[in-house]
Amino acid sequence: MTGPYDDRLAAAHDRYAAKRPRSRELFERARTVMPGGSTRSVLDFPPFPFRVASAAGSRITDVDGHEYVDFLGDYSAGLLGHDPGPVESAVKAALDRGWSYGGVHTDEIRFAEAVVERFPSIDQVRFTNSGTEANLMALQLARHHTGRDRIVVMDVAYHGGLLYFGHGGEALLAPFDFTRMTFNDVDGVATTIDDTVAAVLVEPMMGAAGCIEATPPFLTALRRRCDEVGALLIFDEVMTSRMSAGGAQARSGVHPDLTTLGKYLAGGMTFGAFGGRADVMAAFDPERGGTMTHGGTFNNNVVTMAAGAAAMSELLDGATLDALFARGVSLRERIGEVAAASELPVCASGMGSLMTIHTVDGPVTSPNDLAGTDPVLKELIFHELLDRGIYLAARGYVALSTAITDDHCDRFVDALQDSLDAVTT
Ligand code: PMP
Repeated sequence: MTGPYDDRLAAAHDRYAAKRPRSRELFERARTVMPGGSTRSVLDFPPFPFRVASAAGSRITDVDGHEYVDFLGDYSAGLLGHDPGPVESAVKAALDRGWSYGGVHTDEIRFAEAVVERFPSIDQVRFTNSGTEANLMALQLARHHTGRDRIVVMDVAYHGGLLYFGHGGEALLAPFDFTRMTFNDVDGVATTIDDTVAAVLVEPMMGAAGCIEATPPFLTALRRRCDEVGALLIFDEVMTSRMSAGGAQARSGVHPDLTTLGKYLAGGMTFGAFGGRADVMAAFDPERGGTMTHGGTFNNNVVTMAAGAAAMSELLDGATLDALFARGVSLRERIGEVAAASELPVCASGMGSLMTIHTVDGPVTSPNDLAGTDPVLKELIFHELLDRGIYLAARGYVALSTAITDDHCDRFVDALQDSLDAVTT
């Protein structure tokens, strides 16, 4: 069955492909050696993704010579834009001192100190190579600490390549004893979480599921219930730690037992971390009776440690993160106005500098509100925006970087207006 936008989307694909012969050629080449033509599935979109030639500041240029303003910000990992000077200098200086030490060094202490200082709920931290790994470690740590197996997660949440609770994620799901509940369902908290639960894993704002912010009563209810039944509350702040110097938890005032981090915090280098209460983290400290070991060849690699220490001490201060938050709120409001004035079912949700444009009538306060999403219209709007030099995720996701200015935001709003007009005329 074809819907109202199928023909327009097919035409948009043709236009896109005609302008990008080199990207197409490289896509065919990539496909022969990497299934699907990439090694990070989320970067793929029909008819084929443009291939990046270079990036600088707020701009990305593809191999066919098209330039885009980068509103995707590497799915939030690129918070500092494409050439953050102090991070680059720190990485170069670190490499001048050699790499692959196979030994402990000082930058990892500096980076860990910066993390611990910033998040009051994190007494101690350990580094990993990705957010996925950080979440897997936190879950095992919670199981070990409580002696229980059951993990409560939110339906359709994304916590990493092996921790995707959307439909279709089952094949790669790590084999834990998971129970799903609905995000922001306050009544479900008491009925789902009992004294067989080791941990509740939740994002203060569901990111990949559509930038849906947790309500204060939901977070408070989770905190209270975890205390009642002796379960650990884990906040996945891989995306949301950008919401303030102390993360989304500082904004809500609800503090978890463990926090996982990732993405931008190491200045754009390969990164993940998990940390929290000293008594829980003691599991990794033989002197405090800890019996867990935590391996990882690259956990303290010199590039990430130097980049993280520099990013946190020189760039990611509270004022910068608060300004980014405010710019995001303003952009989302303006997107909301354009959407509301359109006859199309379009709205935006999010928190601070992270947001998603949806193809449903809003408001979106739970994943259930996205049931009526029109995926064809969503992809069509994405292509219309690309055509106007705006890069965002095909799923409508936007993550602002510090390289994005008010002028760029004006350009985004104008491009969205034009795109919606083009779709309706
Ligand atoms: N948690 C959240 C909330 C994420 O958004 C992501 C990445 N999109 C992850 C975990 C996984 O992080 P990584 O891609 O570094 O494994």
